Amino acid sequence: MADCLVLNADGNPVSLLPLSTIVWEEAIKYMVLDKASVLEWHDDWIVHSARWSTPVPAVIMLRDYMKPKMTVRLTKRNIFMRDKWTCQYCSVEMQEKDCTLDHVVPCSKGGKTTWENSVTACKPCNYGKADKQKGWVPKAKPTKPSYYQLMERRRQKPFNLRHPSWAQFITG
Ligand SMILES: [Zn+2]
Repeated sequence: MADCLVLNADGNPVSLLPLSTIVWEEAIKYMVLDKASVLEWHDDWIVHSARWSTPVPAVIMLRDYMKPKMTVRLTKRNIFMRDKWTCQYCSVEMQEKDCTLDHVVPCSKGGKTTWENSVTACKPCNYGKADKQKGWVPKAKPTKPSYYQLMERRRQKPFNLRHPSWAQFITG
């Protein structure tokens, strides 16, 4: 995870999906170029160059509002999130690490990796279904989620906080 949370000029994270964070070198660049104000610092972390030293920013806020990209990428993580980390066949809720991706129409029968043909499955269901389709109907018809739907799901799970101050900006 990166070191510094990037807030938009309105005080909200530029992005929650994924969380808008940058590494410390970039954070210092924003600061030096005066493109952002620093709201929080990593108190116990100072970096040095030959000529200067500075604590590392933990939260910065951009001076200019950046239009958020409301795109929803088709990734396994986002499919699991859309399905609330719940097996679409037996309804068991899982940790993300236990989720597997199932193709409703199996790949062997021409099924593609799309929002409409991909669902979350537990390992036993995925194994049991294998390349069958008959009798295996997902609980919820899989569709492409909106950015806001996914964001709402994302907020239900804890974020990894690189700095304790992040919590107040993320939970909104
Ligand atoms: Zn299952």
